[in-house]
Amino acid sequence: MHVVVDLNKCQDHGQCVFSAPSVFSLDARGKLAFRAEAEATYVSPPLGDDHRDDVEEAADVCPLQAITVED
Ligand code: SF4
Repeated sequence: MHVVVDLNKCQDHGQCVFSAPSVFSLDARGKLAFRAEAEATYVSPPLGDDHRDDVEEAADVCPLQAITVED
Protein backbone atom coordinates (compact mmCIF):
# COMPACT_ATOMS: atom_id res chain seq x y z
CA MET A 1 0.00 0.00 0.00
CA HIS A 2 1.14 3.50 -0.86
CA VAL A 3 -0.16 6.95 -0.04
CA VAL A 4 -0.18 9.40 -2.92
CA VAL A 5 -0.58 13.11 -2.21
CA ASP A 6 -1.28 15.68 -4.91
CA LEU A 7 0.79 18.55 -3.57
CA ASN A 8 -0.81 20.96 -6.03
CA LYS A 9 -4.21 20.34 -4.43
CA CYS A 10 -2.98 20.21 -0.82
CA GLN A 11 -3.29 23.46 1.09
CA ASP A 12 -1.51 22.30 4.25
CA HIS A 13 -4.62 22.27 6.43
CA GLY A 14 -3.23 19.35 8.40
CA GLN A 15 -6.35 17.25 8.97
CA CYS A 16 -4.39 14.25 7.68
CA VAL A 17 -1.90 14.71 10.51
CA PHE A 18 -4.63 14.21 13.10
CA SER A 19 -5.99 11.13 11.32
CA ALA A 20 -2.66 9.44 10.54
CA PRO A 21 0.12 11.00 12.64
CA SER A 22 2.44 8.07 11.97
CA VAL A 23 2.43 8.90 8.24
CA PHE A 24 1.64 12.63 7.87
CA SER A 25 3.34 15.55 9.61
CA LEU A 26 3.77 19.27 9.22
CA ASP A 27 7.20 20.90 9.18
CA ALA A 28 8.35 23.84 11.27
CA ARG A 29 6.75 26.24 8.78
CA GLY A 30 3.38 24.49 9.02
CA LYS A 31 3.71 22.90 5.59
CA LEU A 32 3.08 19.23 4.85
CA ALA A 33 6.48 17.60 5.41
CA PHE A 34 6.26 15.67 2.12
CA ARG A 35 6.92 18.94 0.30
CA ALA A 36 10.60 18.44 1.08
CA GLU A 37 10.54 15.17 -0.85
CA ALA A 38 8.45 15.93 -3.95
CA GLU A 39 7.43 18.81 -6.19
CA ALA A 40 3.98 17.87 -7.42
CA THR A 41 3.09 14.33 -6.40
CA TYR A 42 4.37 12.57 -3.31
CA VAL A 43 4.34 8.77 -3.35
CA SER A 44 5.12 7.12 -0.04
CA PRO A 45 7.34 4.12 0.41
CA PRO A 46 5.38 0.88 0.94
CA LEU A 47 3.30 1.10 4.10
CA GLY A 48 2.21 -1.83 6.22
CA ASP A 49 -1.45 -2.74 6.57
CA ASP A 50 -1.32 -1.50 10.15
CA HIS A 51 -1.47 2.02 8.64
CA ARG A 52 -4.45 1.32 6.41
CA ASP A 53 -7.30 2.50 8.64
CA ASP A 54 -5.49 5.72 9.51
CA VAL A 55 -4.50 6.67 5.96
CA GLU A 56 -7.96 5.84 4.61
CA GLU A 57 -9.42 8.14 7.24
CA ALA A 58 -6.89 10.82 6.25
CA ALA A 59 -8.00 10.49 2.63
CA ASP A 60 -11.63 10.84 3.72
CA VAL A 61 -11.10 13.94 5.83
CA CYS A 62 -8.76 15.81 3.49
CA PRO A 63 -10.83 18.84 2.44
CA LEU A 64 -9.02 19.08 -0.90
CA GLN A 65 -9.31 15.36 -1.76
CA ALA A 66 -5.56 15.42 -2.27
CA ILE A 67 -4.84 11.97 -0.80
CA THR A 68 -5.31 8.62 -2.48
CA VAL A 69 -4.46 5.19 -1.10
CA GLU A 70 -3.14 2.71 -3.65
CA ASP A 71 -2.43 -0.99 -3.26
S1 SF4 B 1 -5.49 17.13 4.88
FE1 SF4 B 1 -5.18 17.29 2.66
S2 SF4 B 1 -4.93 19.47 2.32
FE2 SF4 B 1 -4.60 19.14 4.48
S3 SF4 B 1 -2.39 18.84 4.73
FE3 SF4 B 1 -3.31 16.84 4.49
S4 SF4 B 1 -3.15 16.43 2.28
FE4 SF4 B 1 -2.90 18.61 2.56
